[in-house]
Amino acid sequence: MTDTPVRVRIAPSPTGYLHVGTARSALFNYLFARHYGGTFLVRIEDTDLERSRREYIEPILDALRWLGLEWDEDIVYQSQRLDHYRSYVDKILETGHAYRCFCTKEELDAERERAKAEKLPPRYSGKCRRLTQAEVQAKLDAGQPFTVRIKVPEGTTSYDDMVSGELTRHSDDIEDMIIARSDGSATYNFAVVIDDHEMGITHVIRGNDHITNTFKQIHVYRAFDWPVPNFGHVPLILRPDKKKVSKRLGDKDVGEYRHEGIVSDAMFNYLCLLGWNPKTEQEIYNRAALIERFTEANFNASNAVFDEEKLLAFNKAHIAMMPDHDLAVMIAPMLVEAGVTTKYWLETRWEYLRLVVSLLKERVRTLHDFVSLGGYFFSFDYTYEEQADAKQFTPEAAQLLQALADRFESLGEFSHDGLETALKGLAEERGLKPGKLIHPTRLAVSGMSIGPGLYDLLLALSKPIVLERMRKAVEYINRKASA
Ligand code: GLU
Repeated sequence: MTDTPVRVRIAPSPTGYLHVGTARSALFNYLFARHYGGTFLVRIEDTDLERSRREYIEPILDALRWLGLEWDEDIVYQSQRLDHYRSYVDKILETGHAYRCFCTKEELDAERERAKAEKLPPRYSGKCRRLTQAEVQAKLDAGQPFTVRIKVPEGTTSYDDMVSGELTRHSDDIEDMIIARSDGSATYNFAVVIDDHEMGITHVIRGNDHITNTFKQIHVYRAFDWPVPNFGHVPLILRPDKKKVSKRLGDKDVGEYRHEGIVSDAMFNYLCLLGWNPKTEQEIYNRAALIERFTEANFNASNAVFDEEKLLAFNKAHIAMMPDHDLAVMIAPMLVEAGVTTKYWLETRWEYLRLVVSLLKERVRTLHDFVSLGGYFFSFDYTYEEQADAKQFTPEAAQLLQALADRFESLGEFSHDGLETALKGLAEERGLKPGKLIHPTRLAVSGMSIGPGLYDLLLALSKPIVLERMRKAVEYINRKASA
């Protein structure tokens, strides 16, 4: 690390929503900035007018905010800097590190075809590099259109990658790329260097599909005699079938995971471990711990696999660690949307919602599970689990439930101990294991065969509701028996 303050950025192209690869790059840059007390920036690369869509910008920013990747300065939009880039085209021509290329599209196509036929990589031959000044002037005077190409020097280009160490490429493999089109507009790789330089970017951490761009971009820095930032190219994120994650293959973007009940802390933690290694067995970390540990020394050079099952396991662990209040804030609108309860009902029962959250949070894998596993806390509008009904709701169980409800009713104090003593007392009198009472009671009050500890559950529901539900279950069993 140098002493210069770290400045990093994420540069999404708004050609779709925020996909996990870009989110992971954003996260790495963010963690790197926070670890070294640096600055994290956002640049929107919206110059590809055919593929960029304004309507993707807000959702991308929203997803970054949801992940907690707050940026530190105003967002830079490339589309607002187009004229600025043009001014650098003249400047680079003055340096002599770039040249005008008058080759027509037809000539270039023919050249590419020839290379293909000879099984050579389709590179520009460098023909216009060799034009004399007089030849150039003559073509300019004749009004011939031209592009501008960077002059990649003979020999090799090397740089020290933060992830892979020293990387080298021969100039034959780095094309004299076009930096300005014939209408004078700058190309992507040229604009990126101007931006990164003017934004004072010290480190560029991005996917390794950009390595070829990096070799091209380095020559633009050198042409202007600008300091070359440090580059780190992280391995790609693959699907379990080892293909690169892609929307085309049905992979989800960050917003979709959010929609599916993944919490931000879990996504943050999980993405961080895709290509970076905490060098311990421990996998679950909060944000502060990741910021503290995150350095360039622990990047992985091998590809990472995005495993949704693992993400769910991370989600489960993070939900269990989250404060009840925070979870309640997220779950309340979901309960209302699912029609389980109303906003009005919840407004006056915030403590109850927090209690429900605390009882369920060790058992859920997504936020939606709070709704599917906890609806009975809010309404009696449930059916009994079929298998459990057949097994537990026997005529004998009806009798037991009736007797237990009576005992519960006469309890002086509806408390954990009182409920337990009543239930165990009845079981003992009848010579039964407590399970014979516990299972049908749970099924009666929740419709489910699993859930929080029974006494906690009964207490949370409250005495009148427990008694009502137990008696309704008795009626149900009797009806079933006489049907
Ligand atoms: N807009 C590029 C992308 O979305 C960013 C490349 C970079 O980080 O330089 O892949």
